[in-house]
Amino acid sequence: MFSESRLKEQMLAAGRVLFERRALPPSGHGDISARLDDQNLLISDVADLRDLSRERLVAVGLSGRPRRDGAMGPVASEIVPLHAAIYLARPATGAIVHTHSPRATAFALAGRPIPAVYEGLLRFGVTDEIPVAAWAPRVSPELVSNVLAQMDKHPGAPAVLLGNHGLLAFGPDPTAAAFLAAVIEEAAGILIDAYLLGGAKPLPLDAGAWEEREVLRPATG
Ligand SMILES: [Zn+2]
Repeated sequence: MFSESRLKEQMLAAGRVLFERRALPPSGHGDISARLDDQNLLISDVADLRDLSRERLVAVGLSGRPRRDGAMGPVASEIVPLHAAIYLARPATGAIVHTHSPRATAFALAGRPIPAVYEGLLRFGVTDEIPVAAWAPRVSPELVSNVLAQMDKHPGAPAVLLGNHGLLAFGPDPTAAAFLAAVIEEAAGILIDAYLLGGAKPLPLDAGAWEEREVLRPATG
């Protein structure tokens, strides 16, 4: 587990990755959180990730209460329940990135999962489709349960699309989650182009298993 200071550095780096890799919309809207320890997380408290700074990363208990007096603003308090529920449901998740990545969000608006048919996704361990959680108001318990229901149905999916809204990507640490969001945005753009050409061909059913074997195979020689 990282120190709070190191984790903040990683979260700022993750914000830069999202911009540099064009995973954010022109509004810059998105949020980032990271697991600080068993009880607490750090969460961004800005509407535009260009405004992210150490001071705008606030510590919050997994219960949703600010860890220090009055440190949490309105943006963070809106998003804490959803982020906290994901950390509780997936103990291995160390960070969550939420973006309105334009092409991935196009899938969310269309209510279409992003299929795992692109080699670039395989390299990030995405071998299952990225499902869509049905829209619900962003501060509602319904949204949390819609997201958790899709995570239950797709235990291998490291991301969920929020219907009519955007993308949530999970990772072991903030930069990993940001790189994942960026490759999902890349995949979504390429898929839209492939649909114009008549559609994407599926990968062989064992493509994911092959990737796992290659990654896990011990180096020889
Ligand atoms: Zn949003």
